[in-house]
Amino acid sequence: MNDDYLIRIDDTGFDRVLAFSVPVRHARGRVVRLGPVLETVLSAHDYPPVIKHLLAEALVLTALMGALLKEEDSQLTVQAQSEGGPVDLLVCDYRGGEVRGYVRHDEAALASLGGATSLDALFGKGYLAITFDLAVSDERYQGVVPLEGASLTQACESYFAQSEQVPTLIRVAVRSNGPRCTAGGLLVQHLPDSEEGKDRLHAREDHPDWEHVSILAASIQPEELVDPVLTLEQMVWRLFHEEEEVRVEQLAPLERGCRCTVAHYQAVLSRFPEDQRAEMRDDDGLIPVDCAFCSRILRIPA
Ligand SMILES: [Zn+2]
Repeated sequence: MNDDYLIRIDDTGFDRVLAFSVPVRHARGRVVRLGPVLETVLSAHDYPPVIKHLLAEALVLTALMGALLKEEDSQLTVQAQSEGGPVDLLVCDYRGGEVRGYVRHDEAALASLGGATSLDALFGKGYLAITFDLAVSDERYQGVVPLEGASLTQACESYFAQSEQVPTLIRVAVRSNGPRCTAGGLLVQHLPDSEEGKDRLHAREDHPDWEHVSILAASIQPEELVDPVLTLEQMVWRLFHEEEEVRVEQLAPLERGCRCTVAHYQAVLSRFPEDQRAEMRDDDGLIPVDCAFCSRILRIPA
């Protein structure tokens, strides 16, 4: 019997994020492993395997990048949109430890790919928008990069290189075992000014500290990212145990969350004029609203 979930959930790293830093190298990172939360998100729709895999990868990336946010109310949104590919839209977001996401795709066009799973095949010509909404300053940072490269993960690395100019390495693994799906990821960045608090030194890919850290980080194996027997702490230790100091911090556990409450939609609908709301009402006087994340229709008294 080989059932991942028989291991105590606290030990598996499932739905947890670990923050870490290697101070002397000015490097910081996050590791995440998704289990039950991932399955909850995937189960809202009847996705074919290739779409499940894509969404699992996107959710890991969302959790990794979202966990870089400092304030609870800040939000990270990952949105991939295509022109002419079978996958029309992918949206994931992270807020205060809650993740959600969905994919909109054309079943027939996907079937015609004959199993091809490259970004190019799935999206055709597309782009990836990554948006950080910061709660405290009410600022929004958005970077848009073409959906190019072998995977969404590579496209996210391009985002950090092009939009933030922060050398960043990201690795994601997805493991499907029948209907069960687990996924994990590692993100490591070089922030040369992080300790001194002065203006960022010129970040460059060939900085000796970053070369050293990125070589260590790149030695991570896909199996390690999804291995429930290897804790997140052990994973970081394996990579960086020869460094002078490695700091780790357990972040709040991840949850699957959505904001599709009656109160939320009532607030949104209250901004519409009464004649428009009247047109939206059904025979029972309620306004049906579709939540694509949850794949359910709410009927709102509004
Ligand atoms: Zn919802």
